[in-house]
Amino acid sequence: MKQRDDFDIVIVGGGAVGATLALELERLAYRVAVVEMRTPSFESVSPERVIALNYGSRAHLEKLGVWQELGETGRITQIMVSEVGNRGRADLDVSEMTSLSEFGYVVEMGPLLAPIYKALEASSVRLFSPATVLDVDNGDDGVTLRLRLDGEEQQIRAALLVGADGTNSQIRRMAGIETRGWDYNRFGIVASVACARAHGEVAYECFRNAGPLAFLPLADGRFSIVWAVTPAEAAQLLEMDDERFTTALRKAAGPDVISQTGDIVGVSGRGVFPLELTVASSYAAGRIALVGNAAHTVHPVAGQGMNLGLRDVDALVTMLESDLARQDPGQSIILQGYAEKRRADVLAVAGFTESMLHVFGSSVPGVKWLRGRGLDALLSLPRLKEKLLRQASGLGQMGGDGHA
Ligand SMILES: Cc1cc2nc3c(=O)[nH]c(=O)nc-3n(C[C@H](O)[C@H](O)[C@H](O)COP(=O)(O)OP(=O)(O)OC[C@H]3O[C@@H](n4cnc5c(N)ncnc54)[C@H](O)[C@@H]3O)c2cc1C
Repeated sequence: MKQRDDFDIVIVGGGAVGATLALELERLAYRVAVVEMRTPSFESVSPERVIALNYGSRAHLEKLGVWQELGETGRITQIMVSEVGNRGRADLDVSEMTSLSEFGYVVEMGPLLAPIYKALEASSVRLFSPATVLDVDNGDDGVTLRLRLDGEEQQIRAALLVGADGTNSQIRRMAGIETRGWDYNRFGIVASVACARAHGEVAYECFRNAGPLAFLPLADGRFSIVWAVTPAEAAQLLEMDDERFTTALRKAAGPDVISQTGDIVGVSGRGVFPLELTVASSYAAGRIALVGNAAHTVHPVAGQGMNLGLRDVDALVTMLESDLARQDPGQSIILQGYAEKRRADVLAVAGFTESMLHVFGSSVPGVKWLRGRGLDALLSLPRLKEKLLRQASGLGQMGGDGHA
């Protein structure tokens, strides 16, 4: 076994959330390591790696100099909500919120991760990759991890271990933290599609029985789609050739959407993700804290997962800025403070996401009747439209109505 390395903070998981956290902590002069099981790759060809980010996330990434490196991003200035087989549609227009010029941005994961890793390479953060965590000792005065790297075992030790290792977090399991939630028994099919008309920065959210189908406008003029389907539908859609897939997509989107976007004229390869709601019962245990999907995975219908993860980063960094944290960043008062800061936001976003799925997917007679009178009628429910607008832009979590 190699000699042991010591750090202040070790982050397991170098996805967008873990890597961003590493950068921020290094700037606070902590000695930081990232343990990532894959070799980081930033290929942008993969159509599934597209996410919508809100103002708060943009501000966060701007502060790190990452946003400036992204190049052109898709912008969302209007959201059209429709329900296949039901009359009416509702438009959310950013001009209804005078303080904003767009609801959010659509970025590809590859080009997002590339500048984050470029900054990491130029920093003092140690990257262990591709590395496997063999075990973790969450001790009273420090955490010890046993890793396998380049076929050799190695120990590293830190005052704080952060699990940023995604939905099926190994660190969460090793910390003995349970989760609540459910499997939606749905899969998200993702792809990029070209349509006959310019998208005009409009995003479309179509509600169907099986679940929502979203079209997000990309910088290159195409849309990225996220399509929630049953497992059987997913299996069929993945097998189809482009022509049959396009026909199925056209039908799922419905005439309201296709009359706006123009016909679907091209489709990329497809990706698939299981959809689930998983919320950790606690975001900290001993000297271990959880961030990003390791702490919470929500349905992509409201496009909030990564935005939530970046707010975890904000909250943990704020706790770790204090003089108290500098004495021992893994002490329980710091981690419990972090956990407490995050609980309400995560529950609010998970609750909002669920309510969207239920209101738009509900077959409860009263709700169905209201939807049947048109989505405009539904959105005239007191505060529902305002809430949708605030959540779409991220202002719902920022407590203000201006830029973050
Ligand atoms: C179809 C779909 C659409 C989405 N759309 C949006 C959207 O529009 N807006 C939005 O905000 N969010 C969206 N999300 C959610 C968003 O993608 C996630 O919330 C976000 O990517 C989570 O980032 P993360 O860094 O926490 O986790 P991940 O991206 O999962 O990264 C985890 C990292 O940890 C590594 N890892 C895993 N296990 C280990 C281990 N044991 N040891 C070492 N390393 C490990 C992985 O290799 C990976 O690099 C969407 C999700 C899906 C599925």
